[in-house]
Amino acid sequence: MEALRRRVLSCTDCELSRTRTHVVFGEGDPEADIVLVGEGPGEWEDRTGRPFVGRAGKLLDAVLREVGLKREELYITNIVKCRAATEVGGRLRNRPPRASEVKACRKWLEAQLGIIRPKVLVCIGGPAASLLLHKGFKMTEERGRWFTDTPYAPSAIAVLHPAYILRKEGEDFLRARELLVEDLTKVRRRLTEEL
Ligand code: SF4
Repeated sequence: MEALRRRVLSCTDCELSRTRTHVVFGEGDPEADIVLVGEGPGEWEDRTGRPFVGRAGKLLDAVLREVGLKREELYITNIVKCRAATEVGGRLRNRPPRASEVKACRKWLEAQLGIIRPKVLVCIGGPAASLLLHKGFKMTEERGRWFTDTPYAPSAIAVLHPAYILRKEGEDFLRARELLVEDLTKVRRRLTEEL
């Protein structure tokens, strides 16, 4: 994993290398049973070189703690390793990575998953699920459902992205947060069942 990390840190295989501050390779236990995959780094991840450290990361950490999963025992990464952003009014704003950027970067994620060979793969948000589970994944219908014998793990599931949850307010926020708690509880249980 360390050799792979060194290669990715100097990657210039797509346009995102020109605007990144740091490559966000991913972090955690390289022998983890559970791997979480998001879409791509945001502003704070780009600044620090670490995945899920902004507001969304803090919400994810809180929910992981709540369901009894320790972040250091997992592996967390993204589909693309550099921040996708567009300049608007002199400021960089996050945007979804383009298909060409995903195509250029997915080899690194696949190499990571090949090394870790997780028992459970957790896709954080629709784009990760569409890439790793099936095209056109519908979060409203398919989140929280188990997919078995995927190319990357014997069990895989998609959960709501914490950034999506943070855009909700009041009751809607609480309901969406509860769905994340529910789905990550399923993940912890799945692991216990499998051991
Ligand atoms: Fe390389 Fe991926 Fe960064 Fe593009 S996003 S430069 S492919 S590491």
